[in-house]
Amino acid sequence: MSTFHAFLLSREEGQEQQLDWTEVDDADLMDGDVTIAVSHTTINYKDALALTGSSPVVRRWPMVPGIDFVGTVEASDHEGIAVGDAVVLNGWGVGETHWGGYGERARVPGEWLVPLPSAFSAEQAMAIGTAGYTALRCVLALERHGLTPGAAPVRVTGAAGGVGSVAVALLAGAGHEVIASTGRPEEADYLRALGASEIIERDELSGPARPLAKERWGAAVDCVGSHTLANVLAGTRYGGTVAACGLAQGMDLPSSVAPFILRGVTLAGVDSVMAPREVRLEAWDRLATDLDVSKLAAVTSVRPLADAPELAEQMLAGQVRGRVVLTVDR
Ligand code: NDP
Repeated sequence: MSTFHAFLLSREEGQEQQLDWTEVDDADLMDGDVTIAVSHTTINYKDALALTGSSPVVRRWPMVPGIDFVGTVEASDHEGIAVGDAVVLNGWGVGETHWGGYGERARVPGEWLVPLPSAFSAEQAMAIGTAGYTALRCVLALERHGLTPGAAPVRVTGAAGGVGSVAVALLAGAGHEVIASTGRPEEADYLRALGASEIIERDELSGPARPLAKERWGAAVDCVGSHTLANVLAGTRYGGTVAACGLAQGMDLPSSVAPFILRGVTLAGVDSVMAPREVRLEAWDRLATDLDVSKLAAVTSVRPLADAPELAEQMLAGQVRGRVVLTVDR
């Protein structure tokens, strides 16, 4: 019987969860018709929550965490996917209810996989990861509600994080004026290099919101939720759109209907985990044409998978800049 190494999260009844780097039998891999040798994965906010157990992300035990991976197909019974193909996986409950990317091998249903886009290397695809693909989906949501370059500034919250950094790069690259808000003023140069024209201290948005505030931006990508999203809505110009994807400040939304009924503001929700395959393929196509790979390199650092537990703590403390690729060495 063949084995591989993986991080395994386990939990005994009534005890705290435990994370071990361990040897796993192939036979223990979950159902799926494609087996992949994983070469790269990444750390997203959700991975950090899962690794630290600070939120009930993992809903099946034991679990190999990791909501994204890239690798090469080792075995396939899936029509259209052959041994040797390079594939990408984002979401679908992988790392939550189905074993994920923090191991040398993974097995999933073939319909969850997309081909590695020819525009990107395996490392670049994981530099994008769920965070980058979510950022692109936020931009698409704003465009579908009428956002055009030059019309009005676009606000990005949680700007120095993974989703935020890619959103700033994508929006600036498309010709939008970007107002980035961050709790890390020391990252101002980094955000300006990605294309932000104004940097704002995040405290300005993190307290309780009034129903309406001065109209300052025409659209926004919000990675933060809670009071921040309420303030973002209150400051959005008449007819603007806010794409909401995150909860770094909190899951709540202490707002009022005022922005919607008095200014016609649209709140567009973005979920990447269960997005249908055609939506994913469209997103990867747009990333290939719209994302400047030199900016992607500027937001990316590369670390070994072994560093994931330490990175998870740093991420929840808001200390991780941009995106981190994790290499899965054998
Ligand atoms: P990161 O940890 O990389 O970025 C989050 C950023 O939020 C931080 O860098 C920080 O930015 C800001 N932040 C952190 N804590 C607070 C706080 N208490 N108050 C205000 N701002 C805060 O995470 P990701 O970019 O990977 O994810 C961002 C959010 O998007 C997460 O909530 C994640 O769960 C969600 N997400 C949702 C997806 C979906 O499908 N809807 C998919 C992917 C992510 P700064 O230092 O600049 O202030």
